[in-house]
Amino acid sequence: MKVALLSGGVGGARFARGLVDVAGDANVTVVGNVGDDVEVLGLHVSPDLDSVVYTLAGLNDEERGWGRAGETWEALGTVSALGGEDWFRLGDRDLGLHLVRTQALRAGEPLSAVTARIARSLAVETRLLPATDDRLRTWIETPEGDFPFQEWFVARGHRDPVDAVRFEGAEDAGPAPGVLEALERAEAIVIAPSNPYVSIWPILAVRAIRRALEARRVPAVAVSPLVGGRAVKGPADRMLARMAGGTTPAHVAGCYEGLIDALVVDESDPAAPLAVRAVVTSTLMTDLAASRRLAEAVLGAAA
Ligand code: GDP
Ligand code: CA
Repeated sequence: MKVALLSGGVGGARFARGLVDVAGDANVTVVGNVGDDVEVLGLHVSPDLDSVVYTLAGLNDEERGWGRAGETWEALGTVSALGGEDWFRLGDRDLGLHLVRTQALRAGEPLSAVTARIARSLAVETRLLPATDDRLRTWIETPEGDFPFQEWFVARGHRDPVDAVRFEGAEDAGPAPGVLEALERAEAIVIAPSNPYVSIWPILAVRAIRRALEARRVPAVAVSPLVGGRAVKGPADRMLARMAGGTTPAHVAGCYEGLIDALVVDESDPAAPLAVRAVVTSTLMTDLAASRRLAEAVLGAAA
């Protein structure tokens, strides 16, 4: 079955690995979030695309949950010693990728082309596309003011409660080459167990992508990022509680109104009926086998 997967960083990447294992590289196109992208030390960093590429390449650090395994931090140590910008943690191995990407972007190569080249070089055969090649940036609105995503998430430790999110540049952003074709050719559209507000909404903020989902002729299935009403990691539960009014499957489904036909929820979550079909299974991706089982349940829900 041909699948188009909308994905954020770590949750999306873990799911993507299982999905690719089940469906095969040739059948999966991952459409990744770029709302988290940030310029640090003059470099263009695309954390969510990189989480997917590192995970699919088997280079990711499982324990830390982000970045590369066997990472060292010598360059960042020098940056700190020189009083440079050190709030965003860039490891030595990771830095190499950002150097290559930044140079290519500066030379005029689109993000989608650089991303494809990086994936190919790391022997990743799954197609990975940024949602857009245009500049699209997530902003977080809080009682303390509005912050660019990474300033809120990393520098402020995502402690400020979130009143709203907005996506700078989304109005004028077009889908990256291949994204609409992947959505049109897919036999199932899947939304990964990613943070709805800051990983999936920035993808859907590209109008043509949202329209493609609204006009879908194939099943669309989302996987809830909550287990027992709690995010496995990160602020998704607190954001849902404040912005949607709760952390049940219905609140998650509400984030994707009109865009999905089924929601895969964890067996520890309340079983109240949803506006879309609920598929109940264990959604905790503790290892590749668990990611595979979840992917099989998702493909079953789309069949
Ligand atoms: P980020 O961009 O790195 O924050 O990654 P994502 O948005 O793709 O993923 C973060 C979300 O993944 C969080 O809301 C987690 O609750 C969710 N998540 C992480 N691991 C799991 C898991 O094993 N199962 C489920 N259902 N959700 C998970
Ligand atoms: Ca992210």
